[in-house]
Amino acid sequence: MSLFFVVYFKEIIRLGRRYPFPRPPNCLREGCKSRRLWGHGYIEAYFEGYEGPISLRRYRCRDCGRVYTIRPFGYWPRHHVEVRIIIQRLCKRIKAGKWDKSDGLTRQRQGQWLRALKKNIMAYLGMSFRGSITEGFYELMYTGRIPVQRA
Ligand SMILES: [Zn+2]
Repeated sequence: MSLFFVVYFKEIIRLGRRYPFPRPPNCLREGCKSRRLWGHGYIEAYFEGYEGPISLRRYRCRDCGRVYTIRPFGYWPRHHVEVRIIIQRLCKRIKAGKWDKSDGLTRQRQGQWLRALKKNIMAYLGMSFRGSITEGFYELMYTGRIPVQRA
């Protein structure tokens, strides 16, 4: 399970595994809520704009065994570009009808996000959804999904 915390990338890069990652106060599993979360190593992840990999701290609940990964807020799992950049680029494309290819983000990449978003709107919000693509994006986020997640 991913937990999102505000962490400082520059400090993580500088300190590596010595970075003081926050520890969740208790297990989030219903019916467990144990306070015994122990360090469970690190997982390596890559992020846009940083020469990777970056080590992310993991904790494991001693009572139910659930593993938590501490992730930087603002990134989705398996997506290397910041959430706010993804939103910004998709909005531009939808409103202006043009791709913003600055900062090395290719049309192909952004096209994948847009296609996945449309698919997810159909799959999870259904044919009856009458909102715009942008509204669909926020609706999916609100229901806890990653709007641009590919199947
Ligand atoms: Zn637990």
